[in-house]
Amino acid sequence: LPPIFTVAFPVLKQLEQAGYEAYFVGGSIRDLILNRPIHDIDIATSAYPEEVKRLFPKTIDTGIKHGTVTVLNDGASYEITTFRTESGYQDFRRPDHVTFVQNLAEDLKRRDFTINALAMNRAGEVIDLFNGLGDLQKHLIKAVGDPMKRFHEDALRMMRAVRFMSQLNFDLESQTKEAVSDLHQLLSKISVERIRDEFVKMGTGINSRDAFKIFLQTKLSESVPDFAGKSDLLAIYPKLKFNPSMETSLWSIIIILLKISDDQIARFMRDWKNSNAMTEKVRKIVTLFDLISEKSPSDLELFNAGKDVLLNTIDVAHILGQPINSEALVDRYTALPIKSMSELAVDGQFLIANGIKPGPKLGQILNEIKQKVISGELANSKDDIQDYLQQIE
Ligand code: ATP
Ligand code: MG
Repeated sequence: LPPIFTVAFPVLKQLEQAGYEAYFVGGSIRDLILNRPIHDIDIATSAYPEEVKRLFPKTIDTGIKHGTVTVLNDGASYEITTFRTESGYQDFRRPDHVTFVQNLAEDLKRRDFTINALAMNRAGEVIDLFNGLGDLQKHLIKAVGDPMKRFHEDALRMMRAVRFMSQLNFDLESQTKEAVSDLHQLLSKISVERIRDEFVKMGTGINSRDAFKIFLQTKLSESVPDFAGKSDLLAIYPKLKFNPSMETSLWSIIIILLKISDDQIARFMRDWKNSNAMTEKVRKIVTLFDLISEKSPSDLELFNAGKDVLLNTIDVAHILGQPINSEALVDRYTALPIKSMSELAVDGQFLIANGIKPGPKLGQILNEIKQKVISGELANSKDDIQDYLQQIE
């Protein structure tokens, strides 16, 4: 077993010695068997949160209401969750109330997919009540129990299904897929933030193209912001050559495919509850992509984009199969006299010291200097800029 599990042994042991059951559960077992990187370890136990807190000196109340306590032990942290079922589903969303139960089987039953419903004890024995191991081997995403019932309980699971398809390069089991097709409209009950997080994971996973195909085919796409009625435009996505690995590339590609105009980008990104920072970056990428596609961007436009955005735009152009000379663009960027305002030889203070009065005019002059330096008309030196200032007075 990899060290990430073995270092957690003392935690399991302590719970067991206090008379409780404790297992590794969920994604970490799946990823262990698939030989994928394991990022976090979840533990399920029969102990109540208060009992977990009593047993370990350092804990954080992560989600006490849902039975989750984070235990800090030996420099590592573990989410320890009391065996529970989720009862009283309302509005097709995650339940507000959970019921603690005394056995592992009940806890595994409430999990979404068979491959996520595996547990492992301290001896390294896998507990597999729903043939999750078989589905791992068959590369299948299959709901635990009746998929219709499970998606009624929590509609987000439908997005999780296509997300795991993409990340793991798995197929969707046929009945599970049928249930998604039947119930896709329930997705509209789920908060946009949660849909977005799954959508981004789907869009940036290793097989996002096939997952996206199912996302369209099952009509899940009809129940997310701004995608309804747009399946013709989005159908290009699964035909793309590469797969966006960056979230900014994903959003840029979607915006380009949907032909969203510049003045509608902010609204689109807001509909998806994206941050302002993400929106700004994506807008810059889409703008530069348009410039690159039509003609060559000017030096000033390259400067305004910045290196990050330029490289990201090149990535987007490659994914979209847009023929561009990326080497020439990078060379031109590298040859820019300045890459940011802080590299300009003068600043506002310098202009004031040279007799320009503070005010809007000063900003204008500074901007002119910037543009002339970038275009090569004016050297980026204090002396040359001082001469220029005397000329314009
Ligand atoms: P990741 O590698 O993305 O973290 P994960 O499988 O750990 O994948 P999480 O969202 O961290 O996914 O959830 C941990 C576990 O909790 C899952 O493996 C699954 O057993 C269960 N789970 C999470 N969300 C749901 C849900 N909406 N419905 C049912 N079970 C869920
Ligand atoms: Mg996880």
